[in-house]
Amino acid sequence: IVDVYATMPWFGMDIGGTLTKLVYFEPKDITPDELDQEAEILRNIRRYLTKNSAYGKTGHRDTHLQMDDITIRGRRGSLHCIRFPTSEMVNFLLLAKSKGMAELVTTVCATGGGAFKFEKEFKKEVNMRLAKFDELDALIKGILFAETHNPTECYYFENSSSMSCISKGEKKVYDFSQPYPFILVNVGSGVSILAVWGPDNYKRISGTSLGGGTFLGLCCLLTGCDTFEEAVELATEGDHTKVDKLVRDIYGGDYERFGLPGELVAASFGQMNLKDKQSSVSRADLANATLVTITNNIGSIAKMCAINEKIEKVVFVGNFLRVNPISMRLLAYAMDYWSKGTLKALFLEHEGYFGAMGCLCQFNN
Ligand code: ADP
Repeated sequence: IVDVYATMPWFGMDIGGTLTKLVYFEPKDITPDELDQEAEILRNIRRYLTKNSAYGKTGHRDTHLQMDDITIRGRRGSLHCIRFPTSEMVNFLLLAKSKGMAELVTTVCATGGGAFKFEKEFKKEVNMRLAKFDELDALIKGILFAETHNPTECYYFENSSSMSCISKGEKKVYDFSQPYPFILVNVGSGVSILAVWGPDNYKRISGTSLGGGTFLGLCCLLTGCDTFEEAVELATEGDHTKVDKLVRDIYGGDYERFGLPGELVAASFGQMNLKDKQSSVSRADLANATLVTITNNIGSIAKMCAINEKIEKVVFVGNFLRVNPISMRLLAYAMDYWSKGTLKALFLEHEGYFGAMGCLCQFNN
């Protein structure tokens, strides 16, 4: 009899600066014998996780990202994606304890800075040992895992060469089965940019501290909003051209000599020094300007990295892109525009879960 739960390889966790991502593999081919032998606590935890989509006050299961009928270590089942704010870690541990976690001797694979920061608390509160993996190794492993298990994982936006892509460019599946080489831009709280030539051949070439955390932080300060969802929603209704100084605000039209169109942003937030302009912008305009500023800056750095490394595919991941089509479309357009069509912006359905997935499949090796 094989004790498939011996080391509990069925979780992968990525404890990030803002969000903790948890992937949970639910085996669906459990035999009656296995079911008999399964510890009751484990069965209860499995039921709790798979029957609910909200956990405590702030935990969510992204049901639309669930991967069904996949095989890991010869077992067939479903992969569930769960997230909660890292600031809620104490409550998460209490919840896990209340479900009986502490009575199991378990090891969970974890990555992200929190795997170091919270290691002692995991041991103390829920008797859980963390097997730690590097977050960038896990990120790449997770992307390859998702790509091989989901034929529609990767997509791009159609007509990215025209401005209309920003409002209505359609999502199209991209065949990412031959991925290398590619630039990987992970937009989490901060941003990391990697050049990836093979599964174990990559380097971190750049990064910026102006990332998803900056967008959320500035947006909360400027608009008084409370959540990422609210910030993005506000941004959707706003108009950054009332906040930014555009080329046309300076030239009265295009800056023809260097091919800079009038609607291009010359200075982000460049009108906000003037009192009358300040009083004519809405919260939504400020949210939109913040989103556009952060997104364009990331796009511009990503473009330089791709050109330097002579790599055409630029893959954007991270939870900054969650429920955020404005940024994705803007990145698609910016990549195409500034590279005169040579670079291609690509996106992945599981956005922020690759680190956690990469942890799950470490046990696969
Ligand atoms: P990290 O590992 O640094 O936590 P993530 O890839 O999880 O990075 O992305 C975090 C970013 O995602 C936040 O800075 C914010 O811009 C965005 N985000 C998306 N959804 C949420 C959410 N529900 N709560 C907070 N931030 C969110």
